[in-house]
Amino acid sequence: MPATATPSLIPNYICGQRRPAPGATLPVTSPLDGSMLGEVVLTPPEELDAIVHTAQQAFTRWSATPVKERVQVLFKFKHLVEQHIEELGELVSRENGKLPAEGRAGIEKGLEVVEYATSLPQLITGELLEVSSGVDCYTRRFPLGVVAGITPFNFPAMVPMWMFPLAIACGNTFILKPSEQVPLTPLRLAELLKEAGLPDGVFNVVQGDRTTVEAILDHTGIAAAAFVGSTPVAKLVYERGTRAGKRMLTLGGAKNHLVVVPDADVEVTAKNVVSSFTGCAGQRCMAASVLLTVGDCSHVVEAIVETAKKVRPGCEMGAIISAKARDRIHTYIDLAEKEGARILLDGRGATVPGKEGGTYVGPTVLEHADRNSKCLQDEIFGPVISILNVKSLDEALAIENASPYGNAASIYTTSGAAARYFEQRASAGMIGINIGVPVPREPFAFGGWNDSKFGTGDITGKDGIAFWTKPKKVTEKWSAGASRNWMS
Ligand code: NAD
Repeated sequence: MPATATPSLIPNYICGQRRPAPGATLPVTSPLDGSMLGEVVLTPPEELDAIVHTAQQAFTRWSATPVKERVQVLFKFKHLVEQHIEELGELVSRENGKLPAEGRAGIEKGLEVVEYATSLPQLITGELLEVSSGVDCYTRRFPLGVVAGITPFNFPAMVPMWMFPLAIACGNTFILKPSEQVPLTPLRLAELLKEAGLPDGVFNVVQGDRTTVEAILDHTGIAAAAFVGSTPVAKLVYERGTRAGKRMLTLGGAKNHLVVVPDADVEVTAKNVVSSFTGCAGQRCMAASVLLTVGDCSHVVEAIVETAKKVRPGCEMGAIISAKARDRIHTYIDLAEKEGARILLDGRGATVPGKEGGTYVGPTVLEHADRNSKCLQDEIFGPVISILNVKSLDEALAIENASPYGNAASIYTTSGAAARYFEQRASAGMIGINIGVPVPREPFAFGGWNDSKFGTGDITGKDGIAFWTKPKKVTEKWSAGASRNWMS
């Protein structure tokens, strides 16, 4: 876009249409090269009533549509997303900064949830038991009403797709509040849902920031909300939403520990650890952050450094979401240096020729001496791995267990016994054995432990269905010959 052109407005999507909102806007730039993508509207709280009303009206018809008909829309949506996957991957890349292939991979993961949601008629049949002679009890699940999803910047398509396919398949109508840093992809998903036949008002996108989120959480017309983002915000959002009487599930940040023992396969481990901490430029809640090496693993560390050297920003690795986030990552590397850590690979000051306006950090490998370093405690959210040497697997487990987070933990070993010992003791919801990003494939659900999640259950899989529905238990007696007992 020429420097003088007026940036285009990035609007809401309400009742099947792109709609502007009054009030302030925020510039959105591409992390790849700093180019202007537009100005996103920051929906003021007073706009929300009308939007919720639209979603409530759509709920009346959508919730009464049989589930077998509702999921037909998702079958079509899946095919449309597949047809448009190149375009969507590029869009994700442009607004988020990750590689187009990473954009596509996230969408494919999101499609697994769509696929699961299309099976809803098979999954939601309910239960029936003759509890007494001539008396049956059965269950049915009902949608909650208008529900909301609040999502982070790092997966503009995938994280919303953890939420809305199941929520709408279950009969709810949905309001998505995407990250104000990546407002474009959800608009395109909304258009594809409409093209797939979703009635207007069932899926809506409300752009905004903290103020908009707070209005969603306080709104009495919204029955439930799922959130994915950083831990401090996840906690605030959980508390505010539950205080307002909503059903809430909020997923937070992470500090994932990988453990390598001397018998690990060097090549497999090096490749896998590097792709875990450099994939999506380390901006994944499942990314490796701490590598605990047990005993003498210097050969593995050397291989990790050599492998990481080949990951070039702008080629094999994408950008960091913003200059602010890049500078924050630099601060942690500076701190490690001050504390006396060995910087085995330094990604500070990375630039990409022709994309000088982009925000990049190269792969960074830190070998810590100070085990109290903040680099080993805080979520850095960049392509940085902090290595700490320990004497035993138990010592590694004690460090992993002490972390307040609990998304993922992985071990690299060729010993089944060591793997099992680790898997049983690590304090995380998702465990990897020779896998550095142990995201469960559906129908195995996604969700961490400890401060990586507030609320009950996982966000996808069976728990997702439970979250977006409420069960009704019916007890019926039609038979004149029903036996007489306390139910008579
Ligand atoms: P973030 O917490 O800054 O923002 C997430 C969402 O909350 C955005 O929509 C934002 O507009 C809104 N928000 C921000 N501050 C708020 C406040 N004070 N009150 C109410 N709403 C607010 O997160 P981010 O920087 O966009 O995303 C990165 C974080 O998300 C990392 O911590 C990462 O680990 C986490 N994440 C977790 C998972 C998971 O499954 N556990 C998945 C992806 C990302």
